[in-house]
Amino acid sequence: MVFGVFLTNGSLETMVFWGRANRCFAGRARWLSEYKREMDDESMVMCEVNQMNADKVRELAKRDEAAVVQFLRDIVAIPSFSTQEENVVKRIAKEMETVGFDEVRIDAVGNVIGRMGNGPVKIMFDNHIDTVGVGDPASWKGRDPFDPKLENGKIWGRGVVDEKAAMASTVYAAKIIKELGLGDQCTVWVVGSAIEEDCDGLTQLHLIQNEGIRPDYVVLGEPTDLNVYRGHRGRVEMIITIKGRSAHAAHCEKGVSALYKAARILLDIEKLNDRLAHDDFLGKGTITASFMDVKTASLNSVPNAAIIYLDRRLTVGETKESALEEIRALPSMGDAEVEILQYEATAWTGKKVEQDKYFPTWVLDEQHVLVQAAVEAIEAARGTKPKVSRWVFSTNGVATMGRLGIPTIGFAPGLEELAHTTDEYINVADLVDAVAGAALIPQTLARRLAK
Ligand SMILES: [Zn+2]
Repeated sequence: MVFGVFLTNGSLETMVFWGRANRCFAGRARWLSEYKREMDDESMVMCEVNQMNADKVRELAKRDEAAVVQFLRDIVAIPSFSTQEENVVKRIAKEMETVGFDEVRIDAVGNVIGRMGNGPVKIMFDNHIDTVGVGDPASWKGRDPFDPKLENGKIWGRGVVDEKAAMASTVYAAKIIKELGLGDQCTVWVVGSAIEEDCDGLTQLHLIQNEGIRPDYVVLGEPTDLNVYRGHRGRVEMIITIKGRSAHAAHCEKGVSALYKAARILLDIEKLNDRLAHDDFLGKGTITASFMDVKTASLNSVPNAAIIYLDRRLTVGETKESALEEIRALPSMGDAEVEILQYEATAWTGKKVEQDKYFPTWVLDEQHVLVQAAVEAIEAARGTKPKVSRWVFSTNGVATMGRLGIPTIGFAPGLEELAHTTDEYINVADLVDAVAGAALIPQTLARRLAK
């Protein structure tokens, strides 16, 4: 059953997208028009309409619970470290075909893309399906990270929060969208993206720039505990190369120690961290010297080179250019040089990929229609209003919104702080809510855009 109802100037118009109307809904529509005669309060009517739709979506999400759980457990059981996602990608493609996606394909860098519908509201659910490693196996408290058990309403395993639960739930959300006949309103892409843990945004950038897929809105599957997130700090990884002059340690006055020069630069970087910008929503910009490599002819020589590695977190208003300039302006830099690190890898498809390690800051306005539609949809799906917040970590939003300017939010089950831990679990109840919420977002967005 399907519907969406537009309200204009307080009048309830049944300009309704009927996909497959059924008798039951026809009855409810009559009830609604009677209801409207009694109620002139537009928001009240809208609320009732949405709630009827939400009830149906929730019913369908609950119906599919066992299938979503099984699909999630299947994809958690397939290890999929960055650049090694082939097997999980093929399993996801199979599920997409089984539930009736209109088109399923795998792109050159190893993303899997399912399309449902071909309507004018183009929305992409992006879920990266690579995971980090498992760390110390002993710290999984007897659980096998690739044998995801269902215990007391929870599923445990590597990647279950980050982000395979979102992958499973959005595939089934798209299935419901199709069942409701909403394909003429929305084009919904569900993407399982590769290599995010190694280089966030890289494969999304490829997908949108080279594969002919251009969404107008993006929903990321990074964990938000079913809240709506709308940004995070950016990041740039830099290296400073410091030159010295080698000499025998017995004649150290004849050399120039790259190590001593580096030490002065490190102290300047520590001070720089204290004066970086602060933003009330995203937090403070930071800089951390994370590693140093020293070149020396022997342990009895003056070091001739040093390389400092920097992790720079960028808040609102900070860019790679401003971050580079700050380093160049440090009093101790002298002839040292700073540059942005490059990422290079080979995707599981064999394609070589590369990108500079710059991940721009992004924030979507809280009043943006995508944020507001998601809040409304999730409230209708769950009965409680979601928080609007931001991540502490980075996501593929650095590409979709940070580099390409496509309005982006996050909505997914799971706790952000469980990502990359050996305690990764998801509540099955949250998984069902995630299906319902994701199924309601595109139609709520379509309705708001049509107003
Ligand atoms: Zn993630």
